[in-house]
Amino acid sequence: MAVANRRVRPTLLAWLVAARLCAGLETIVIDAFDYADSAAARQVWTPAAELPQVTVAGRDGGRALCLPCPFSGDMPRSLYHRDIKLDLSLAARIEFDLCVDKPEAIGQFTIYLISGNGCYRGSVDVGETGWRRVRINKASFAVERTPGSWDRITGIRFSPWKAGAIDATCMVDNLEAKSGGDIAIIIGAYSVRKMPTEAQAVRGCAGRIAALLDGAGVMARIIEDEDIPRGALDGIKVAILPYNPRLSESTAEAIKRFVKGGGKLITFYDLPAPLPELLGIRLVKWSARERDGQFLEVDFSGCGVAGMPPRMRQDSGCIFEVEPVARNARVIGQWVAADGRTQKPPAVVLSDTGAFMAHTLLPGDAARQGQFLVALVAHFYPSAGQDAANAAIERAGEVGPFFDTLTLERYIRGRAPGHPRAHDMQAAMDKAAKRLAESKAHYAARRWPEALAAADAAREQFAEAYLAAQRPVQGEWRAVSNHTGTGGEPGGWEESARVLAECGFNAVLPDMAWGGVAHYKSDVLPQSDTFRTHGDQLAQCVAACHKHGIQVHAWKLCWNLEWVTSREFVEQMRAAGRLQVTDTGETREWLCPSHPANFKLETEAMLEMVRNYDVDGLMFDAIRYGDSHVCFCDGCRERFQRDTARKAAVWPPDVTQGPLRQAYRDWRCEQITRLVRAVSRGAHAIKPHVRISAAVFHNYPNCRDEVGQDWVAWVKEGLLDFVIPMNGATSGGAVQNMVKGQIDLIDGRIPVCPSLFVTLESRVLTPDQSAAQIVGARQAGADGFNLFDHSPAMSAPYLRRLAGRVIGGDLPPATDAPVFAFAWDEADPREVTVSPAGTRDMRKPVSSVIGRIELQDLEGRAVAQLGPAPTADRSQPLRLAAGPGDYRLAVIGQVGFADKTTMPFVVRSRIVTLTERQDIK
Ligand SMILES: [Zn+2]
Repeated sequence: MAVANRRVRPTLLAWLVAARLCAGLETIVIDAFDYADSAAARQVWTPAAELPQVTVAGRDGGRALCLPCPFSGDMPRSLYHRDIKLDLSLAARIEFDLCVDKPEAIGQFTIYLISGNGCYRGSVDVGETGWRRVRINKASFAVERTPGSWDRITGIRFSPWKAGAIDATCMVDNLEAKSGGDIAIIIGAYSVRKMPTEAQAVRGCAGRIAALLDGAGVMARIIEDEDIPRGALDGIKVAILPYNPRLSESTAEAIKRFVKGGGKLITFYDLPAPLPELLGIRLVKWSARERDGQFLEVDFSGCGVAGMPPRMRQDSGCIFEVEPVARNARVIGQWVAADGRTQKPPAVVLSDTGAFMAHTLLPGDAARQGQFLVALVAHFYPSAGQDAANAAIERAGEVGPFFDTLTLERYIRGRAPGHPRAHDMQAAMDKAAKRLAESKAHYAARRWPEALAAADAAREQFAEAYLAAQRPVQGEWRAVSNHTGTGGEPGGWEESARVLAECGFNAVLPDMAWGGVAHYKSDVLPQSDTFRTHGDQLAQCVAACHKHGIQVHAWKLCWNLEWVTSREFVEQMRAAGRLQVTDTGETREWLCPSHPANFKLETEAMLEMVRNYDVDGLMFDAIRYGDSHVCFCDGCRERFQRDTARKAAVWPPDVTQGPLRQAYRDWRCEQITRLVRAVSRGAHAIKPHVRISAAVFHNYPNCRDEVGQDWVAWVKEGLLDFVIPMNGATSGGAVQNMVKGQIDLIDGRIPVCPSLFVTLESRVLTPDQSAAQIVGARQAGADGFNLFDHSPAMSAPYLRRLAGRVIGGDLPPATDAPVFAFAWDEADPREVTVSPAGTRDMRKPVSSVIGRIELQDLEGRAVAQLGPAPTADRSQPLRLAAGPGDYRLAVIGQVGFADKTTMPFVVRSRIVTLTERQDIK
């Protein structure tokens, strides 16, 4: 094994020398890129097609590989290949250093590992400049075509993907595989074969545990249970069974031998024989919860296991009740209900041979779940605690958009002058440095749990410093979505609205209806169980939110019947021929958009929300086809031929790949667009002040061709008041790239307020990572954002860390402000003309608009005052005299209503970049 990580960040050097001794980690150096010169690198790395050759550049005494990305041309990406024979069967993670000189040019960076007739694909978002360590867990590599096994890798490819039309260079260095030798996660392949409906749960639970452990720096080998009889557990100290409801006889025997030989088991939920006996527990029964929140949290207080979090959130719907009976088994975790009462059946049992948890680990609470897993594994195998401490120290400075403490320090220093929280920022940095030093001292003394806890505390303080260094921006549309439709806080809508208002939000997107079910009193859709149990959610939401000054934009999931919808309704639709049909004749549980009855149902469901409730807006979601394979039902055939007066001789080949392919794609888009049109016009006719928005895919125009979602056309037709692109990304820089592209696509016609995915099953962003995405959106000229999703994983304590520092302000959102046109001189961006372009319809008639023009930085701070805003038919030419930088023009003023009341507002232009050269001119 070669020396790994030869070049490391200087602050980490001292303790990293010790870290190399970590027991469980082994490093395979795949390519250190220390080629003698560019010619030598070109012997090994070859470009695809017409791309330029690679070069090498000096880096810390060695060299790094440079991949040209000539993206000012037409190509969608760069691709460089190396032949290499590798056995990565024991690898748990692939790592490399990555640096991009112009992050706005590159969206994602993909590594492919070729094997057999396919490959394994791992991707990361780019978006930031500077060197960073990329770590991709093996469990998160996607599969393309039919790859061979990981022990027969035959090649590697790197591919940066274009985001902007700029020439750039990606540099890579220190490509390595890390193997986890002593811990194994066992995927229940046998269970999947015996219970195919559980396949997703089995793989999902295993993937989640792999990601949590990897995130905590503990590497685990991922194996399948059917390989255990053939020796897959040889050398393993701790085996984790995330959800393995069935075991074959031979696997069961092999696990018995594993435990007899000293191996430990960490198990979850449904345990087949002989696992209960091996663990010293007795299964009592399976039980469903009797009321909401009965198994809300696990309490570990006083459990005596080092490093265990005091509490961990779960909210399980059902559990397996067990009793400790042998092998010194004892309860270490108790269920606690939402009312704070401890429940009788145990949540977690620990014995001499392993541990058992009464349910699978559910998505959410990732930080404490990681602590829980590390504490359990380290209890049986202390080296894991060392690995976790090591990683926590190394990553303590990975905060917001930064990858190390030095860059963060520089940033904080730069932000401090004149900042109202400069003192807090410095105090947090000082505390962080102190905790990090303590952590390293514990590490040197081999006190792993203490080192881990201190490093985590250091990271928290670094995050505090970053959050304190932000500034809220006035006039943003600041929303959370709520997928359950019942509010994100345990107390329902009243508590949710109060928390949102206290945390500086001014809008909420409650999920109120699907294709075949509603949480409100609908005359056209069946009511949900939620409605029957908890009452009319839209009425409760509007009442609570308006009391606290929060707008309600009712969220409708169109067409989709796959969730919440009753079987009865789905079968009724199937019998009526109203479901989508794929190109291979399979029926999907989505309503066919071209079916007249479905179009009517969707339109009426959305309009009745406007008619019957005091909503501030409607948001379309799933306003598209499920994928590119639908819809090709008989009805679509007939209606397509009728609408276009064209005949498909062979159906569906003529429209999927034949002569009518483009005509069909266009017609398919129109089936979606006509719903947006009908609802937008209908809603505005009922209540002109209602705002229409849509959650749309970020990858336009792909979404037009694939799923019929032509949102740019909707904007150009004036059907949307603002747009909510779903910008799922892992970095603020990536969000910035996406928003910039989206504003360009629609020429800044309407506000862009992206959805930022803070909580996903696979990943929960920390508050500082979320802040970095909000900042990224602002840097591109967004007028607001939606945080997905207000839920236990993002409840009051989480939101309060953003409140007042990242999120806040008392001006109404720009989505309600009067409209101004900003016409830039194409040759000279310092010349601009501002003119009023109408008021938006409000709840009351508008009688006047007055304001002043200001040049602002991207945080909404005044740079220059540019006089009064023009009124009525006038326009105001301006010359901008500020120094080089990115700015927005703002009109700040007051709307006067006919009833003599007023409303303040701020509305901003697109970003303008001023350079030195124009200044001289
Ligand atoms: Zn159809």
